[in-house]
Amino acid sequence: MNRRILLCLNHMGGTEIKYVERAFADNWVVPLGPDVDAFEEVLTKRLQPPSPLKGEPLSESQHGNSPFRGLGGWEGGLLALSSGTAAVHLALEGCGVKAGDEVIVQSMTFCASSNPIFYLGAKPVLVDSEAETWNMDPRLLDLAISTRIAATGRKPRAIVVADLYGMPAKWDEIHAVAERYGIPVIEDAAEALGSEYRGEPCGTLGRYGVLSFNGNKMITTSGGGALVCPDEEARKHALFLATQAREPYPYYQHEHIGYNYRLSNISAAIGRGQMEALERHLAHHRLMAKIYQEEFADHPLITFHGNPNADFDSNFWLNTILISPEAHVEGQETAYDKIGTTDCQPNANVEAIRQRLAAEGVETRPLWKPLHRQPVYRGCAAYINGTSESLFARGLCLPSGPYVTEDDARSIAATIKNLMKNEK
Ligand SMILES: *Cc1c(COP(=O)(O)O)cnc(C)c1O
Repeated sequence: MNRRILLCLNHMGGTEIKYVERAFADNWVVPLGPDVDAFEEVLTKRLQPPSPLKGEPLSESQHGNSPFRGLGGWEGGLLALSSGTAAVHLALEGCGVKAGDEVIVQSMTFCASSNPIFYLGAKPVLVDSEAETWNMDPRLLDLAISTRIAATGRKPRAIVVADLYGMPAKWDEIHAVAERYGIPVIEDAAEALGSEYRGEPCGTLGRYGVLSFNGNKMITTSGGGALVCPDEEARKHALFLATQAREPYPYYQHEHIGYNYRLSNISAAIGRGQMEALERHLAHHRLMAKIYQEEFADHPLITFHGNPNADFDSNFWLNTILISPEAHVEGQETAYDKIGTTDCQPNANVEAIRQRLAAEGVETRPLWKPLHRQPVYRGCAAYINGTSESLFARGLCLPSGPYVTEDDARSIAATIKNLMKNEK
């Protein structure tokens, strides 16, 4: 391999430039315009349930009566924004999060799921994962809520659950807990565009949904995101906040603090072209998953992170594996000599694999480090069962994007298997 193989490098489908050129020709080079409107429209369409519900039919109470979930057909509005992080921020505002509130958030996730809680002066309460989807453990969520109520006399204001690497969380169980306490759920589907849970598109499974179009995500606008809103009124309020909270006067009148979060029309033009490539991207990521799954099937020391059952349909944004701590990988004795250690880090055998592949020009990366082990999150209340730390110690993300060929995936898998000295 003499070219660099990255985890998920952005990939233009070919029609993006057509939209960008038209936007230039029409001088729509501002953070609003026809491409923003059109991009929102195609995204909204893509988030309608595509297929008859898979699996068991949903009960009446699950089927759209709940104010907290989109299951059974989401009919709300969608707002294109400058980033997924901005969408998390506005979702929290939409749930009424204020300074001093507590907000429950999955501990194993990218910091963007959680940092906006601090922007609002609120306090994250971190909840660990279950081992099947790697997302928030519903039973621990229940314990966290009841404990916080007992400790503070108040309910947490919102719950942020992520669909990591595209794998949907255990949404039925999450909602059962959240509804019992009457706490709204925000679905961080930044990594899960195109994934489905029981036939329902990820992004529409919470009261609010978050999508990201950063350069490394399933599609890109060079940087951008979207907020999936429960209804038109919520969308209008989010739009108001995203455009500096300007009151309807001919002059600039401000009665609230807003943000500058709207997506540029040029970025939206790229997004329109990307939406035309989305189904190809999805098929590619799922093909990569099939190959890695085949390559590692029945391997005693490597576990591919696949869909737990037919309710889950991951987009496999990044394909991930777990390496057994028993594995003896070439170079593991010295893996940390060069880069130094911290008090919570991947096992040396994982790091040895990462370094060897990097030397061959192949990018891999450990899993998201749990927030409760991040120095800046020290001091947050945390409900921990050991799962995310154990996953972080053992996990590795493998190249999965459109530039990774079938041969690349097989050769990466072969390299990893060959590095295991006790398996030769
Ligand atoms: C990428 C990502 C976001 C938001 O990212 P932006 O870069 O701000 O668009 C949020 N949550 C998770 C889990 C992500 O992976």
